[in-house]
Amino acid sequence: MEVITTTADPSSLEGEMNPLLAAEARFDEAARRLGLDDGMFKVLRAPSKEIIVHIPVALDDGRVEVFTGYRVQHSQARGPAKGGVRFAPDVTLDEVRALAAWMTWKCAVVNIPFGGAKGGVVCDPHLLSQFELERITRRYTAEILPFIGPEIDVPAPDMNTNAQTMAWIMDTYSMHVGHTATAVVTGKPLDLGGSRGRPEATGRGCMMVTQQALQQLGLAPQSARVVIQGFGNVGGMAAKLMAEAGFRIVAMIEVEGAVYNPNGLDIPALMRYRSETGSVVDFPGGDNLSGPEAMFLDCDVLLPAAKENVITSRNAAKIRAKILVEGANGPTTPGADEILADNHVFVVPDILANAGGVTVSYFEWVQDRQGFFWNEDLVNERLKEIMVENFGRVVSYADKHGVNNRIAAYMLALDRVASVMKLRGFYA
Ligand code: NAD
Repeated sequence: MEVITTTADPSSLEGEMNPLLAAEARFDEAARRLGLDDGMFKVLRAPSKEIIVHIPVALDDGRVEVFTGYRVQHSQARGPAKGGVRFAPDVTLDEVRALAAWMTWKCAVVNIPFGGAKGGVVCDPHLLSQFELERITRRYTAEILPFIGPEIDVPAPDMNTNAQTMAWIMDTYSMHVGHTATAVVTGKPLDLGGSRGRPEATGRGCMMVTQQALQQLGLAPQSARVVIQGFGNVGGMAAKLMAEAGFRIVAMIEVEGAVYNPNGLDIPALMRYRSETGSVVDFPGGDNLSGPEAMFLDCDVLLPAAKENVITSRNAAKIRAKILVEGANGPTTPGADEILADNHVFVVPDILANAGGVTVSYFEWVQDRQGFFWNEDLVNERLKEIMVENFGRVVSYADKHGVNNRIAAYMLALDRVASVMKLRGFYA
């Protein structure tokens, strides 16, 4: 069966970096090692639903433009589909499919009752006004409306979308169903049913699994040297929280360059410096390095938290970190996995490492449905329970099956999804 097609050649660097091929490579290996039967393999390898919409939107100057949007639901076996919506000029169906499947495995690996989905609209948000973005969001929502809902599919922010975008989706959906339905999206503003602790959740989850990984290797957080790529939501929050917890953040890598201090950077001061100057370069509390120089520093923890495909078969051998915590989605290509394993790098794979975000999104959905909101300590405590427990499960799965942590995480996730599907059976 060949449901999904992509034109990328898997043996080329382009193929290695293709998100769909990367997701399939991990899926195939985990499925093979699990001994997944042929029928279940076919079901889980393909998305369950793909929606393509072409949405007419009036621009501010009166012209009408047509934008293409996608919503792919990979699985709803364990609960409503869950996944972000991204706005970018280069969004493709391949990418959305890969990310939708990724969400299924991510939700399953932390054992929250969601399936996986992803959406996107092909547009360049930097060339659009707020009013145009609002109209695109509302029309996209109206087109996919029969396929989303608190019990069906729950969107969230992703690249170039934010709490305001979620407020527009929530409002559009609510206008159609005739009542305020906060649980239709997560990542909303706090006043509209958002959760405390959500902005910090992904970075906090990264810190929690880093602490577990250090413990696993018998290393102390206080002496751990951490290199972070990406000073945005995930990397910035992780840096702030880790520095507060006593880690030494020795390097921060951004687009424009990197800054290094072997004694640990003053993260609040670096945040202020970057917001004033727009850059980390020439920060008075450290030395300038190039991005690659910092990436390949001898350190205990490397936390890529910027973008996909930064560790490939071409550079993986240069990584000198003991632990790789994947804050970003897909920072490591399948070609790099084997090299990292040969070099005994302890990898906390993305579907586990950055699952703190979707876990607190799950808490947001629970709170919205209860109409009862938790304080931040309770959110963080419950997040820790989930991250620590499932980190332990992934590591013991890896031990038991003699596989690396990434394949173990996929095997655990596939096993969880396949077993509920077996219990439910196949309708009709
Ligand atoms: P963000 O836009 O807030 O931050 C990304 C940062 O990385 C920016 O500061 C950007 O300048 C920097 N960056 C981009 N390219 C870079 C490069 N080549 N080298 C160094 N720095 C670079 O995004 P985010 O929300 O922090 O997301 C980062 C990654 O984490 C993405 O892969 C995203 O899919 C993933 N992720 C985010 C969340 C979340 O809750 N925000 C949850 C799960 C996964």
